[in-house]
Amino acid sequence: MSTPRIEVDISKIRHNTQTVVGPLKARGICVTAVTKAVCGHPAIARAMLDGGASGLAEARLSNVQRLRQAGLTCPVTLIRTPMLSQVDAVVHVCEASYNTEMAVITALAAAALRQNRVHGIILMVEMGDLREGIMPQDLGNMAQQVLDLPGVALKGIGANFACLGGVAPTDAKMRALSDLANEVEGRCGPFSQTVSGGNSANLPWALGEFATGRINDLRLGEAILLGVDPITGDQISGMFQDAFTLVAEVIETDTKPVRPILYSPDHTLARMQLVPDTFDNTRIILGIGHQDIDPVGLSMAPGDRLVGATSDHLVIGTKNASPSVGTEMRFEMNYSALMRAMAAPDTQTNLHNDQPGPNARAVQDPSRHLALV
Ligand SMILES: *Cc1c(COP(=O)(O)O)cnc(C)c1O
Repeated sequence: MSTPRIEVDISKIRHNTQTVVGPLKARGICVTAVTKAVCGHPAIARAMLDGGASGLAEARLSNVQRLRQAGLTCPVTLIRTPMLSQVDAVVHVCEASYNTEMAVITALAAAALRQNRVHGIILMVEMGDLREGIMPQDLGNMAQQVLDLPGVALKGIGANFACLGGVAPTDAKMRALSDLANEVEGRCGPFSQTVSGGNSANLPWALGEFATGRINDLRLGEAILLGVDPITGDQISGMFQDAFTLVAEVIETDTKPVRPILYSPDHTLARMQLVPDTFDNTRIILGIGHQDIDPVGLSMAPGDRLVGATSDHLVIGTKNASPSVGTEMRFEMNYSALMRAMAAPDTQTNLHNDQPGPNARAVQDPSRHLALV
């Protein structure tokens, strides 16, 4: 089998989705599954839907197009504010999008009218993370403008936490978001199909002791794919952490001096002396690098340690018996490593346990990323 490759256990993704959908449903919250880290991989998206997700969310239009080309007809929401240059395509493939800019919403409305459609608008509110979002004091005004604009329909509001600024979704913040939903409705009339509370970082709050108020949706990627809480990095009990495995191949193994051999006082070489020299000096070189993965996001087996990586090589120091050339090594990945690996052109994706679930329809993916085994 070719390397590097990612082995995906589809049944584990379905299980992880089910595990989180059940308790959230009991609290009045739907799950919108986020596929951006897997580049809109259709079979993975299908597993999330089979597990009970009510719809999909994507950050990139190209990934949405991939989902559509594979025959997925479920609602797909664009969670990154659409680019002005892409509004026609956004309206064409997405039921709704998260928005923060009136200029974009106006262009979406015009595109929707041209296509004889109505595009849903969810207004993203700034709640402290300081990435995207409308300032709360401006929300009412903007909601009114959206309501007055033909071609678009106000579908709700949303917030995002713990992405850029690291602001955690506390009970007080979540109550403030519920209050905003009430305020906007008080001013503009009932709209609230969606009050989307946030991402995987919201799970402890959503499943905790507090009232969930008006929040009726969460957008979940990392928790479903990797079974971890993004804030603490802790495993979520009852969920699989190993739905994805990266397999890479050893291309050299050797005993090397622990310090680089310095031929010149060149700055680059001087910096390389900072490579730790306390570890065992058996080196394994794998045929992957920065172009394929985020090296620090790979799990290391006991006795192995990441020495470093370049664009196409990954170097591991080991205290273990050194593997022979051609040996496959397996790694688990964090979210950042997973997203880079899924997007890497040389990395194949192999699906395991891909028996269709009860709601599954045929998924066909003509893209090079997919290989059924
Ligand atoms: C990436 C993203 C999510 C999903 O985040 P996870 O941590 O993967 O659950 C949700 N909402 C927005 C706006 C995002 O950009």
